[in-house]
Amino acid sequence: MNTRRDFLQKLSASAFTLPFVPSLSLASTDEAKETPYQGPVLRVAICGLGSYGTRVAEAMQSCKMAKLVGVISGTPSKVKDWQAKYNIPEKNCYNYENFDKIKDNKDIDAVYVITPNALHKPQVIRVAQAGKHVICEKPIALNAAEGQAMVDACKKANVKFLVGYRMHFEPKTLEIIRLRNAGEFGKVLFFQGLTGFRIGDPNQWRLNKELAGGGSMMDIGIYAVNGARYMIGEEPSWVTAQEVKTNPEKFKEGVDETITFQMGFPGGAIASCLSTYTMNNLDRFFLNGDKGFAEMQPSTGYGPIKGRTHLGELTQPHNTHQTIQMDEMAAIILQGKKPVVPVDGEEGVRDLKIMDAIYKAVKTGKKEDLKA
Ligand code: NDP
Repeated sequence: MNTRRDFLQKLSASAFTLPFVPSLSLASTDEAKETPYQGPVLRVAICGLGSYGTRVAEAMQSCKMAKLVGVISGTPSKVKDWQAKYNIPEKNCYNYENFDKIKDNKDIDAVYVITPNALHKPQVIRVAQAGKHVICEKPIALNAAEGQAMVDACKKANVKFLVGYRMHFEPKTLEIIRLRNAGEFGKVLFFQGLTGFRIGDPNQWRLNKELAGGGSMMDIGIYAVNGARYMIGEEPSWVTAQEVKTNPEKFKEGVDETITFQMGFPGGAIASCLSTYTMNNLDRFFLNGDKGFAEMQPSTGYGPIKGRTHLGELTQPHNTHQTIQMDEMAAIILQGKKPVVPVDGEEGVRDLKIMDAIYKAVKTGKKEDLKA
């Protein structure tokens, strides 16, 4: 095994030939790899052991500052499997009826709610009232008013409330934001966000208005709404939107199949976006300014994200999104770290206000003002 001594010997042997020896960050040495992290760790319970909850749990195994220590689930067989796989003690296992008792559990700091959309509000509020920090999946609620009630409940309970916006920590995304802030693209004029996939099983909760709160917009179109805001770096002032439904049997009343929407921003930029449940391979962002451009495809999938700008390919390394997200969220909760792009509950409410206006614009056919 290479040791730090080997490393330093190699370095001193080659230092003569190096015109410049970069300052040695501990993270880049073997010693850093050998020294276990000893700082604070966020102890997390996952609520809802479905497909995304499973992905988050797997990713958390590589986290430094966050650890899966508990579960909330309605399926006892899954609880058993997770207990065995992640070494979760019985006293950290709850169901949807009894999880308010988490209040008395000193070994759990935060709950990550990863259930169908309609359950987020009541579950987040119960977790907050139990005095635990909450992370909640997108969309945080079915509309902005519900989201605001969740933000208020968390404030009242004095707990932190974060949204699982993993792209807010993704390195290529952050590089584009850095370039934009540095003026590399000049005046930002246009954003295009294409988000969609072909949805299967007609009986799943995503196609049930009561549980999903809508259709593709709530599930995947939210990435274009959220992405337009962080790529342009402003809040939109108006929206227009149009809906197309080719299969009313599968996409029932209140469950949108395809929505195209446009947004205007105070600095003059416009956005043109598509959200759909009937087309595959739609995962693309494009940002255009008067001095340059950025494009990403895939732009919000699990990655690796690929992107380039007028300056060339983006080469930031890929890491599992949920691992970075949970480490960063632990730093936000435990150390008050400020993320480049916010992930607090208010951020989730901002997206829902825009989505409320998009759904309204589909009905009215008019330009809906967001300034009010
Ligand atoms: P799944 O259907 O795979 O899992 C949801 C889980 O919630 C179920 O397995 C179940 O877990 C629990 N649950 C509780 N009540 C119900 C109910 N009435 N119907 C169905 N499930 C119930 O969904 P996903 O994991 O794909 O999505 C969950 C959330 O995560 C959604 O809000 C979604 O938008 C979000 N998501 C976010 C992604 C991201 O990249 N950020 C990606 C995918 C999803 P149990 O058996 O343990 O009770």
